[in-house]
Amino acid sequence: MPMLSSLPADSSRTAHPAASAALPSYLQADKLGPWGIYLQQVDRVVPYLGHLARWAETLRRPKRALIVDVPIQLDNGTVAHFEGYRVQHNTSRGPGKGGVRFHQDVTLSEVMALAAWMSIKNAAVNVPYGGAKGGIRVDPKTLSLGELERMTRRYTSEIGIIIGPTKDIPAPDVNTNEQIMAWMMDTYSMNEGATATGVVTGKPIDLGGSLGRRDATGRGVYTVGVEAARHIDLDISTARVAVQGFGNVGGVAARLFAQAGARVVAVQDHGGTIYRQAGLDVPSLLAHVAAAGTVAGFAQAEVLPDAQFWDVDCDILIPAALEQQITAANAGRIRARLVIEGANGPTTPEADDILQDRGVLVLPDVIANAGGVTVSYFEWVQDFSSFFWSEDEINARLVRIMKEAFAGVWEVAQDHGVTLRTATFIVACKRILHARELRGLYP
Ligand code: NAD
Repeated sequence: MPMLSSLPADSSRTAHPAASAALPSYLQADKLGPWGIYLQQVDRVVPYLGHLARWAETLRRPKRALIVDVPIQLDNGTVAHFEGYRVQHNTSRGPGKGGVRFHQDVTLSEVMALAAWMSIKNAAVNVPYGGAKGGIRVDPKTLSLGELERMTRRYTSEIGIIIGPTKDIPAPDVNTNEQIMAWMMDTYSMNEGATATGVVTGKPIDLGGSLGRRDATGRGVYTVGVEAARHIDLDISTARVAVQGFGNVGGVAARLFAQAGARVVAVQDHGGTIYRQAGLDVPSLLAHVAAAGTVAGFAQAEVLPDAQFWDVDCDILIPAALEQQITAANAGRIRARLVIEGANGPTTPEADDILQDRGVLVLPDVIANAGGVTVSYFEWVQDFSSFFWSEDEINARLVRIMKEAFAGVWEVAQDHGVTLRTATFIVACKRILHARELRGLYP
């Protein structure tokens, strides 16, 4: 292919005079935010991409970013406008796939980063998807159930021009759940005139959802966590675990680690931080959170000031809340030997370097929390074939995929002497860019 081989390495950085050398404005902003962090992660991997590095600029730009106005009538009769996003970062390997987040701090650049990490994650576990993400800038706790439904439906209708079972398939993320997926599925289906269960995953079981999906991300965190622990001679059955975020991901991961004998000594969520040296009773804590909405107020624990969470003496730390929690300011204080990233983007690059220098093993988000999208993939396959698998079958397939992906990443990390994050990016970026190269540039 003479045209391709004549391109210099990372050639897309060499702008043609007819093209503006400057990046679009939305790609310039936010150097210290999640998108800036993602770009630094890409820069670190480019030297390992060989001839595929010539396509690297593909990874630095989202394929498509849609901003939508979401007006709804509030219960008091007034109209409120919310800003919504759907970003498809890359679709070289298949349709876009990634969750929808409802949070008051959601921004376009955050959604771009989350979409990009989905591209990496889906390629890392080798499910046939590109990467996408969506969100609405809203605190859903301020809405009534009816307002939440109207907002979800209007948002779905607005992004309906780019989503679909073979185009881009949303799923739950922070503050979105099975009910919201049911409304999204129904809205899309109403607009299409046909029931399309495969347009979203993470649906209720009675609407084409998959057994095992609710626990899948936490189960994946646990599965690869055990694998990583084995490599550093860390015994799970005696390990002390600290968890930030006690929702879908953190709650399930804590439950599985506790079932394996580990002591969950500290948990932090948006409401506060609790500690118990002998180990928290995780099933009781889950019941408390289901009733109270937060770990705060749990009777069988001490209360810690939030900042002290990072000083807790533990063997395993699981950030499972939001981005940029482990920073240069607290990475030096972390006492764990293993950090398993349940959340997306919880560690800044500076903190990554500090943890590496201190010998703390970081199991990155792009593999550690890939269990959710893996079972979402199973759900989508089951919806298309209208044939549903048992929970045992699903968990067995999930564990196999997670273990295989971990083993491949571990080997690349050893071969190149790089962190597990860079190794995961090497595996994933090669898959994405190889697909890119095979497809060629249209037109
Ligand atoms: P969730 O809404 O179920 O739970 C979020 C948790 O984070 C809650 O316990 C909340 O109290 C806590 N939290 C929020 N703000 C906090 C703060 N400032 N400090 C401490 N805790 C805070 O969300 P989830 O689905 O568990 O997602 C958590 C993370 O995992 C996100 O980064 C998400 O992108 C990522 N993730 C989720 C899935 C999934 O399948 N749900 C898959 C992959 C990655």
